[in-house]
Amino acid sequence: MRIMRNEAQGTDKRVIKLMDDMFRFADELGPFKIVYVYEPSVDLKAVLVVDNIARGPALGGIRIAPDVSTEECFRLARAMTFKNAAADLPYGGGKIVMYGDPQMPQEKKSQMLRALASALRYMEEYIFAPDMGTDEVCMACIKDEIGRVVGLPREVGGIPLDEVGATGWGLAQATEVALQYCDFELKGARVVVQGFGAVGKHAARFLTQRGAVLVGVSDSHGAAHNPKGLDVDTLIRLKKEGKSVLDYPGGKKLDIDAVIAIPCDIWIPAARPDVINESNVHLLNTKLIIEGANIPITERAEKILYEAGILYVPDFIANAGGVICAASEYQGANQCTAFGSIEEKVRNNTVQVLEAAKTKGILPREAAVQLAVKRVKGAMGYRRWSLFSSAPGFV
Ligand code: NAD
Repeated sequence: MRIMRNEAQGTDKRVIKLMDDMFRFADELGPFKIVYVYEPSVDLKAVLVVDNIARGPALGGIRIAPDVSTEECFRLARAMTFKNAAADLPYGGGKIVMYGDPQMPQEKKSQMLRALASALRYMEEYIFAPDMGTDEVCMACIKDEIGRVVGLPREVGGIPLDEVGATGWGLAQATEVALQYCDFELKGARVVVQGFGAVGKHAARFLTQRGAVLVGVSDSHGAAHNPKGLDVDTLIRLKKEGKSVLDYPGGKKLDIDAVIAIPCDIWIPAARPDVINESNVHLLNTKLIIEGANIPITERAEKILYEAGILYVPDFIANAGGVICAASEYQGANQCTAFGSIEEKVRNNTVQVLEAAKTKGILPREAAVQLAVKRVKGAMGYRRWSLFSSAPGFV
């Protein structure tokens, strides 16, 4: 009896510890639910955070990683709440982290994802999407199990957003709008792209098609620079062949981080988080930054940029093209409609954020967060509990 009581007390403590963890980071927006999934037969351990569903079911990716905490999963889910609200999509924010090696064999990955989808079959507040370590093949497994997924292969109704360049298309829109707040035009503007992957190469393609000149580019091997211009099609072909930007014929080869200091008018980070921080922000030699990667610039560095008069468009405003494309896919749209929606939403949001930043004298990121929070709270005002609590006669 004593042992049973002790065990029960131990369980209570563990439950209380989990609740403590949740409420440590809970705030007025969420998280709404945290679900832990464990299926030992396929070595599946995962956590789903549904942060906020006031605007609709939570749309956010599944990340495979060996070492992400529940709190980090919550922060990623919150970023999706803001990104979806800022993009004015009828979706809330959520995220799944599935613990494991993102490079594991596809067969094992598919098995784990099928088990995960099956475990979350009735969790209708969440729509599955790809993220680091998962791709369209993974999403097809989920569709096969339960449906309720975006980022599918073309054969099953998907719009392959990296192939068509949805996020790059959005970056080009944000750039055009931001130029209304700068003293130069796109024609002849010198562009540098850090990270010539799915986001970076399409941003370069769309901007050079509109008259900009790509003068610098980098990937995980190094950087290439030519003040007279680099040919985007050649770079895309090289990357398709599995080569690096260092194999570009002509131009100067540079170290990977030298891309930060290449003189330009528009600098586009499209690689990794925190690449610009207090230690290197002073090296930037540009007038405008369009954030393609997620959190590529630390908060402190953004403040330094603002004080130096360098304009930037924050990540979740500029790089929302991918999620807008995914949402369009979920609603059955084709690629053409999805691109139209990205154009309209990213332009509209960029104007709102830069205009608010200018008139209120605040950082563009502050303006972006204010816009997203206002939209989420606006939607929360229509929720049942909120309506009860504000209804006349409610005690
Ligand atoms: P990707 O893997 O296709 O491309 C990343 C590129 O960055 C590769 O060319 C890689 O070689 C390069 N790279 C890696 N480390 C680098 C470094 N230190 N310096 C320079 N280059 C480096 O990835 P992606 O889909 O293009 O995503 C890029 C970033 O944008 C990520 O932070 C991602 O989370 C974010 N993002 C992507 C999308 C999307 O639609 N794919 C949408 C929103 C945000």
